[in-house]
Amino acid sequence: QVGQLGDTMGNDVFIVGGFVRDFLLGEENQDLDFVVEGDGIAFAQALNEIIQGRLTIHEKFGTATIQLPDKRTLDVVTARREYYEYPAAMPQVEKSSIWSDLFRRDFTINAMAIQLNKSKFGQLIDYFGGIQDLEDKNIRVLYNLSFVEDPTRIFRAIRFSTRLNFNIEDETKTFIHEAIKDGMLDRLSAERLREEILNTILEKNIQENILSLDRFKVLEIIHPKLQASQANVEKLQTLKETINYFRTYESRPDEIEVVLIVLMHLLSDLNEHDLVESLNKLIANKGNYSKIKETLENRKIIYEQLKQEDLNSYDLYQLLNQFSLESIIYYYNDCDHSYVKHYLLFYVLKLKEIHVEISGEDLIKLGIKPGPIFRIVLERVLEEKVKGNIYRREEEIQF
Ligand code: ATP
Repeated sequence: QVGQLGDTMGNDVFIVGGFVRDFLLGEENQDLDFVVEGDGIAFAQALNEIIQGRLTIHEKFGTATIQLPDKRTLDVVTARREYYEYPAAMPQVEKSSIWSDLFRRDFTINAMAIQLNKSKFGQLIDYFGGIQDLEDKNIRVLYNLSFVEDPTRIFRAIRFSTRLNFNIEDETKTFIHEAIKDGMLDRLSAERLREEILNTILEKNIQENILSLDRFKVLEIIHPKLQASQANVEKLQTLKETINYFRTYESRPDEIEVVLIVLMHLLSDLNEHDLVESLNKLIANKGNYSKIKETLENRKIIYEQLKQEDLNSYDLYQLLNQFSLESIIYYYNDCDHSYVKHYLLFYVLKLKEIHVEISGEDLIKLGIKPGPIFRIVLERVLEEKVKGNIYRREEEIQF
C-alpha cells in the first residue's frame, strides 16, 4: 500500500532504520519508519486516509506519526536533497535525498533502506556497509564526529551492542572514549542523562550494560566513587531469577519497578554522603529516591533482626511493613543468610497483604468514643490478624 501510494503521488518511498536492521536479522520490529522523497506530511495524510489510524503532524520537522489501532506506530519523514561540502577543494556535491537521510543516522546497521515503489520494490540501499557490519556483528558510526554531534548515541551504541550481542567496532570505541573524555556528556541536560543511563541499564542484559557503562567511565560521571564492583555484578546476575520468582507470587507482577532494585544493588557500596550525591543525579522522583535511600540505610539493621531464630509474625510484619516490594526483593537477592531469605519470603507470601478491614465508623457503632483508643484498638486487631488468630471482618468486630 505504501509503495503504491508513493507511485500514485510520484514519490520515492523507503522503509528505513530499525525495521530494515531487524528484518535482515530475521527479528520482528513493530516500529515502521518511512522516508518519503517529497512532501512527507502530504504523504502521511494520504496514507492515513487509507489506513485510518491516528495522525499526528510535526510541521516544523516535516514528519508525521500514525498510531495504528493494534498499537504499532508508523513514522513518516520527509527527505530533502542537501549539499555537502567536501574538504580538499572539491566542489559541493548534491546527494540524493535518501542518502542525506541515511547519513544522519547513528550506526551503519541502522542506516539502510528498502525501496517500496513497485518498479524497485525490495531494493536494498546500503551506502555505508551496514550489511557487512550486520554479518560481522559490528556497531560502527558513519563518521568521526558522530558522538560529538549527538552524545546520546554513546548510550545507543552500548544498548545495541548488548541487545544484539554485537561488538562496538574498535574505532567507534575510540570515538566514544574521546567524546566522553572531551566532556560531551556534560552537554546533555541532567534529565536526558538520567533517562539515557536508566534506559541503558535496563536493556536486556543488565550486568553487561553496567559493566559497559563502567568501562566507558560513564558511572564516574554519576559519581567518582561509583563503579561496577564484582560483588554487585554477581548479585545482578541472580536478580532476574529472583524477580521472576517473586513475580509468580504477585497479583500485579508488572508493577515491580526493576530499575529501583538494580539501582539499590549498584549504589550499595557507597557511604551515606556519596549515596545522596548519586541519587540526586539518578532519581528525580521523590518517592523512588527515598525508597532506595531508606532500603540501603536500613539494610544492616534489617539483616540483623531477620537473623534471629524466633521472630514472631507480628514483629516480622512491623519490621518489613514500611518497605516496598522492591526493597524486599533487593534484600532477598542481596543477603545469602537462609533465615533472612526465609522470613522475607514468608512476609511476602503470608503477611504483606494483611490489613484491618474495620474502620473508625465500626468502632463508633460499637460504642467506643473517638480518641487515641482507636489507634490502639485497630493495632491490636491487626496484631491478631497477622498472628493468624482472626481472619474475617466479623471476627474483627467480635474481637
Ligand atoms: P528500537 O526501536 O528497537 O530500540 P530502532 O533502531 O528502531 O531500535 P529508534 O530509537 O526507534 O531505534 O530509532 C529509529 C531509527 O532512527 C534508528 O534505526 C536510527 O536509524 C535513527 N536514530 C534514532 N536515534 C538516533 C540518533 N540519536 N542519531 C541518529 N540516528 C538515530
